[in-house]
Amino acid sequence: MTSDRTRRRLIDQLREMGIVNESVLRIMQSLPRHAFVDEALASRAYENTALPINHGQTISQPYIVALMTQTLLNKPRANILEIGTGCGYQTAVLAPLCEKIVSVERIVKLHRQARDLLYDLAVRNVVFRHGDGFAGFEEFAPFDGILAAAVSEDVPPELIEQLAVGGRIVMPVGRDDHQVLIVIDKTESGLVQKEIEAVRFVPRLAGLG
Ligand code: SAH
Repeated sequence: MTSDRTRRRLIDQLREMGIVNESVLRIMQSLPRHAFVDEALASRAYENTALPINHGQTISQPYIVALMTQTLLNKPRANILEIGTGCGYQTAVLAPLCEKIVSVERIVKLHRQARDLLYDLAVRNVVFRHGDGFAGFEEFAPFDGILAAAVSEDVPPELIEQLAVGGRIVMPVGRDDHQVLIVIDKTESGLVQKEIEAVRFVPRLAGLG
């Protein structure tokens, strides 16, 4: 088991690294990150590092989850598309902060595990789907926010199309060692793109074909 002190230390580190959104910090303080990783790694769950989950994927570094959430939620956003559910940790951080999330995962076993875990954690405002999240999700569009946890070489036009005016995309672009986290705002007069910082994400997997 992990002590409150271990969790608080992580939250202090996130604060020092520039996370200022108190709601995000409060949620991350109370969320059991150890439940999202294998038991063998549970003792490391409150370190500020990415950790392996199954199927060659990772649970993102807590700092990155906090940064992406804080960046996406610069203002309230009701309807979110999340690409790359993975173990569902990022989903669980976002869930209390928005009305509804559509979370898409390409690996069916991860999709099912995350869906079941978040159900056990009493998270009820997420629609989980298996598929290629980079194709967007027409049925639930337009989205006020889109967040991706796998890196793509470019921003798929479907995501821009399915973004509401006033909406924001936060995603990594590039490949291998040259990746940057970007923000795209869709305004009345067009798209505004900004770079946040260099990052390292797993690559986007191809669609179901
Ligand atoms: N959100 C997770 C991080 C998951 S890692 C967290 O909270 O830690 C990125 C995830 O994106 C992996 O599970 C991977 O399988 C998934 N992924 C990769 N390509 C995808 C695609 N095209 N569509 C949906 N999910 C994808």
